[in-house]
Amino acid sequence: MKVLVINSGSSSIKYQFIDTENKVPLAKGLVERIGMSSAILTHAPAGKEKIKIVGEILDHSIAIEYVIAVLLSKNHGVIKDKSEIDAVGHRVVHGGETFSGSVLINEEVMQALKDNIELAPLHNPPNIKGIEAVTKHLPGTPQCGVFDTAFHSQMPAYAYIYGIPYELYKKYKIRRYGFHGTSHLFVSNRAAALIGKPLEDLKIVTCHLGNGCSIAAVDHGHSIDTSMGFTPLEGLLMGTRGGDMDPSLILYVMSKEGLSLAEANTLMNKHSGLIGISGESSDMREIESALAEGNKKAKLAFDIFTYRIKKYIGAYIAAMGGIDALVFTGGIGENSELVRQAVCENMEYLGIELDVEKSGSRPDGEVLISQPNSRVQIYKIPTNEELVIALDTEKIVSEQFSNVAK
Ligand code: AMP
Repeated sequence: MKVLVINSGSSSIKYQFIDTENKVPLAKGLVERIGMSSAILTHAPAGKEKIKIVGEILDHSIAIEYVIAVLLSKNHGVIKDKSEIDAVGHRVVHGGETFSGSVLINEEVMQALKDNIELAPLHNPPNIKGIEAVTKHLPGTPQCGVFDTAFHSQMPAYAYIYGIPYELYKKYKIRRYGFHGTSHLFVSNRAAALIGKPLEDLKIVTCHLGNGCSIAAVDHGHSIDTSMGFTPLEGLLMGTRGGDMDPSLILYVMSKEGLSLAEANTLMNKHSGLIGISGESSDMREIESALAEGNKKAKLAFDIFTYRIKKYIGAYIAAMGGIDALVFTGGIGENSELVRQAVCENMEYLGIELDVEKSGSRPDGEVLISQPNSRVQIYKIPTNEELVIALDTEKIVSEQFSNVAK
């Protein structure tokens, strides 16, 4: 099956057109600066030259129209007719408590997605716009929603209920949801395949470290706890988000600095984390360059970043009663040997022994980076959320057709 995977953000749409049989993208690309007269579409068809188109793309509907047009284009396209797009899979950030797995999109699902907007006001509206745009330009093509929250939906209540009055959970659905689920699911599956054991027999800690960072305890195939919470603000230190903190400090800062709710939200989401502490950058590469030059605040930001990961690994080993594998993924997890080294330092007593040389030798792809005698297998595994979305979409659409045929 050929599945168009769409990750629709507020001003951008990332896409991949994936052949699920061979599990390879036939084309991938990105539309940036949607809403502006100087929007950019970058399209990379497999085995052909990458192209860049600059022009006015005022909304998500026009962006999807462009994406379909480049997929069909004579010189840079990969299909001859729209009908070759068998299905479309959408990344949807928040499924709330409604969706514990991927779904075929219909009117009822669209209504439920709209009902969940309150839980993810920044993310779900552009996801919905992406679905509406596809409905308009590819009418009749089956579409699926694959949720960032779904993999974490089996967490036990003691892991997802916060220590606030229980009525607030009932009234407003305030609980831990967790995010990056598709990535945690993908890399834990890959780790099991590399180890050569069923995922159901393993205890794995997965660290997704990118601009957003989260960590998950994958116990016998289920995420039983994860660091992001009600929103993607909780847990690890991130590029611009501070992660765990005493909630009363927000009220204190608001009163001292006279901040509005919106301003406090911006402070927590955009000006904290690596950028807030270092004053240099939210980008780990730049933090590493600055600390190599002796920048003390960059060093502090780096140390907080890695210390927090180490603490969570310890916590999740305790939560699972052991660990078989530790996985690093995401832009930082896959590429920063400094981060991996700092996180794994002095963890030998837990059976975590990093092979520093292997970890630093920068080979691409999935690599075992623990020492041969390490009790815990340590991997760096490039994440591939798009493939999970494509395969889930294929599964759901095929099931739907076989049900209809029955
Ligand atoms: P992502 O959100 O997964 O694309 O990851 C983005 C983060 O990965 C940014 O903080 C980048 O600085 C970081 N990153 C990418 N490549 C490297 C690298 N070679 N070394 C350290 N950090 C990197």
